[in-house]
Amino acid sequence: MPQILDGIRVRDEIKAELKPRIAALAAKSRAPGLAVVLVGNDPASQVYVRNKIKTCEDLGIRSESLRPPESVTTEELLAIIDTLNARDDMDGILVQVPLPPRVDAKRVLLAIDPAKDVDGFHPMNVGNLVAGLPGPRSCTPAGIMELLKRYGIPVAGKRAVVVGRSVNVGKPAAMLLLHENATVTICHSRTVDLAAVCREGEILVAALGRPAMITGEFIRPGAVVIDVGQTRVTDRALAARIFSRDRNDPDKMAAFDKRGFVWMGDVDPIDVVEKASAYTPVTGGVGPLTIAMLMTNTVAAAERRAGLC
Ligand code: NAP
Repeated sequence: MPQILDGIRVRDEIKAELKPRIAALAAKSRAPGLAVVLVGNDPASQVYVRNKIKTCEDLGIRSESLRPPESVTTEELLAIIDTLNARDDMDGILVQVPLPPRVDAKRVLLAIDPAKDVDGFHPMNVGNLVAGLPGPRSCTPAGIMELLKRYGIPVAGKRAVVVGRSVNVGKPAAMLLLHENATVTICHSRTVDLAAVCREGEILVAALGRPAMITGEFIRPGAVVIDVGQTRVTDRALAARIFSRDRNDPDKMAAFDKRGFVWMGDVDPIDVVEKASAYTPVTGGVGPLTIAMLMTNTVAAAERRAGLC
């Protein structure tokens, strides 16, 4: 059986390590502060924001949630960001995406002070990443690297294949793997013979948002497979096609029927067990690390502002 890379365990380790840093900040001046801006009432975004605020509370990070209405204009959002940039008690600013289509999301994200950009999405921080300079790293890719490090999975000299080239996941994941001396290939929707390219990967990172598309023929035997994908599948036929093959967990479909959906990664959850040497499950793999790294970025931003690093 392959090793399961347990994101919940690593998340808890990271949180435990953050607590004394937060206590030191509180003793020196004040606890770190994170402002979260959530526009409108998108249910998925509400859940993500609730989880972030709850994690702040667990850790003793001060959080403030700003809830402008769906009708907010770009100018109004820019004014909110300006105020947060100027506030001394806020170390991190997070604008939950997606923003409504009317809003100029690029202008809003660009307006965030790069020193408070705890998502690592600001072009200045993307540049810092490429140049190997310090700065907040995009949370999900940073979480992947923590997972590999804490499980002692060697990266240097390995062939790594990243499927997906988004600015927030695929590209920064590839860059972080490169900084750790992997030989990295980035794939996307125009890659020819994706399965053959993926099979070159001793480390395979799937971040494409296509449930269970990465089947056994994409996985090199013995590969370490990191599944970033997280799709809420409500299509019973799709769920049944995948899970009816699961001899280890025949109750999966019963769970689907009870809830009406199942979370599915980009990697076929049955094939990965047969081919990989280690893999991240969905759920409980990469997902929990994203918030842990957001907290890490917030604490680091506060430490920089307090002159502690
Ligand atoms: P995205 O912005 O939609 O990017 C998807 C990428 O996958 C694009 O580069 C796209 O290629 C590529 N792609 C799509 N279909 C493909 C195909 N058939 N073959 C090859 N490449 C294909 O998505 P994202 O924000 O990076 O997120 C990817 C997945 O990760 C989603 O399921 C998302 O929910 C999940 N996610 C999870 C977490 C977490 O905490 N676990 C965090 C962030 C994202 P092109 O560039 O050519 O279009």
